[in-house]
Amino acid sequence: MNVMDEVDVAEKVGGISIFEQTSKMGHEQIVFCQDNATGLKAIIGVHNTVLGPALGGTRFWNYATEEEAIVDVLRLSRGMTYKAAVSGLNLGGGKAVIIGDVTKLKNEAFLRRFGKFVNSLGGRYITAEDMNMKTSDMEYIGMETKHVTGLPVEIGGSGDPSPVTAYGVYMGMKAAAKKAYGTDSLNGKKISVQGVGQVGMYLINYLVKEGAEISITDINTERLAKVSADTGATIVGMNEIYDLDVDIYAPCAMGATLNDDTIGRLKANVIAGAANNQLEDEARHGQMLVDAGMIYAPDFVINAGGIINISGELAGAYNKEQAYSWTEKIYDTTQNIFALADEKGIPTQDAAMKLAEKRIEDIGRVKLSM
Ligand code: NAD
Repeated sequence: MNVMDEVDVAEKVGGISIFEQTSKMGHEQIVFCQDNATGLKAIIGVHNTVLGPALGGTRFWNYATEEEAIVDVLRLSRGMTYKAAVSGLNLGGGKAVIIGDVTKLKNEAFLRRFGKFVNSLGGRYITAEDMNMKTSDMEYIGMETKHVTGLPVEIGGSGDPSPVTAYGVYMGMKAAAKKAYGTDSLNGKKISVQGVGQVGMYLINYLVKEGAEISITDINTERLAKVSADTGATIVGMNEIYDLDVDIYAPCAMGATLNDDTIGRLKANVIAGAANNQLEDEARHGQMLVDAGMIYAPDFVINAGGIINISGELAGAYNKEQAYSWTEKIYDTTQNIFALADEKGIPTQDAAMKLAEKRIEDIGRVKLSM
């Protein structure tokens, strides 16, 4: 018999105490979901629901260890809290990870079983796409729960969030360029883009239109060749990207590319990209960027276009124009963060986190009033 197995776990997994971690990081609830019939193993992380229900995508990944999956869901769900708060949304932060080989496991029953688990949280957690999950997968999940977003446009959803995310990154990059160069024009700027996936590709289109000179890299050589042929961007090596003589570096692939090995090699004055968790160590590497004189546009601020887009879907009838106009505000938010960082003499990452925490605290107090 398969039983819905949702437990707040207090035991040690892979040497880390779950409660130690969640208490340090401020999570409200971690839900372990498992179903033998479909092979589903998932973890839902609800980080903070002060501003609203915890929204965040589901990542399907073949994690090497359970510990890796837990660490990922804890970090990602916390990141969503900050992203929603700093973007002025009335949403909390959450995320889900599904463990296993997507090519072997994903099917209708599997996705609907996951949808049932999402539904059992009664709306405290709302899911969406993330790595290896598509809008069509959301449709299956949506057969078992209404707490799902990122549904296809044809059925009233907001569809693929990547184009809006790219627009927000573009806005954040312009705000950072203004801070570094006194003008937000990217005409003639040399920009390196790491990862030409969904967001990277749309971002490059904006940059090329403005007359920027683009260098690109990706592990997917086929995609790389296509984007180069379509946009005129120059292909560079995977490792070479860190040593290029460019004005702006845009990480749009994986996280933690700003670390002890790379920061000393980068020549860019501005770092602005879509990837989540770009700083390997938030405090140390945030400060290293300041010391190196680089302007860092915090990732969770400028890649919020996707969640802003989804918030439009949650609000009722989705309106694309409105989603873009809300996303455009990332320019102002990024500027406010730079101003706060200057005023307090702190890294931009810390300033962005402070701004988010202040909003959660202020609005949390408002909610308590009669
Ligand atoms: P994607 O999977 O479409 O693209 C990622 C690209 O990076 C792929 O082409 C992949 O081949 C490439 N890549 C992977 N490892 C690489 C490496 N070591 N070096 C160079 N390239 C590498 O993903 P996406 O939707 O474009 O998202 C890009 C990043 O932005 C991710 O970190 C994602 O979490 C983040 N993000 C995306 C959205 C969104 O709306 N899609 C929203 C917020 C944040």
